[in-house]
Amino acid sequence: MFIYIIAFILGSLIGSFLNVCIYRLPRNLSIITPASRCPACNTPIRPYDNIPFLSYIFLGGKCRVCRAEISFRYPLVEFLNAALYALVLWRYGLGWQIPLYFLFCSALVVIIFIDLDFQIIPDSITLPGIVIGLIAGSFFLPDPFMRNDPLGFQSSIIGLLTGGGLFYAVAVLSRGGMGGGDIKMMAMAGSFMGWKSVLMTTFFGSLSGAVVGILLMIFKGQGRKTKIPFGPFLALGVLITLFFGQEILTWYLSGRFP
Ligand SMILES: [Zn+2]
Repeated sequence: MFIYIIAFILGSLIGSFLNVCIYRLPRNLSIITPASRCPACNTPIRPYDNIPFLSYIFLGGKCRVCRAEISFRYPLVEFLNAALYALVLWRYGLGWQIPLYFLFCSALVVIIFIDLDFQIIPDSITLPGIVIGLIAGSFFLPDPFMRNDPLGFQSSIIGLLTGGGLFYAVAVLSRGGMGGGDIKMMAMAGSFMGWKSVLMTTFFGSLSGAVVGILLMIFKGQGRKTKIPFGPFLALGVLITLFFGQEILTWYLSGRFP
């Protein structure tokens, strides 16, 4: 229990930093300096007002100085990252995979929110992510479908090529319906998880994207031309595969469908 609490606290602290990345990366601002400021009144945020979730609650969701509302997204990102770190620990146990999957999950969190805001997935995340994924997948990570077995270089590089290639093909066939950011994101996911995971990720990513797209059309009357960023759905597909891929595959192969 104790290590889950540590993972959760670490996840929320890193989540606080991810909020900075989500705001500054797409605006080409430095993620190191200056220290966080209130976007409304520009007052630097004091360390004791920067505690994940708790400060948000104590301050009633408002800036201490100017009382401007603080977006609910800040505690949400912190909580999401914290929950993912606890899930990684629960599924994969202690070992080298821990810091690497932490990094991978945090990259996905940043991608989700930047893609929602700007419909871009920054190369500054995906390109280093592909390199780290290839090294991690080759030497340190298990196969999400067989968590006791290592992934290995071959599965990692084939995953990279499958993820990148599949989405490159979709981009060509749909004449720009798929962005370059999605291609690189899936190459990164493939390098971390292998080609089988790429297929499951694509399945759940497309399924959830289609469901939300149809719901938007029905309830908001949005036309088919409304652009919905695909990155958040792909990230959801990755997380489903990472945490439940083995169970889903076992269930599927058993042939016992409801
Ligand atoms: Zn303020």
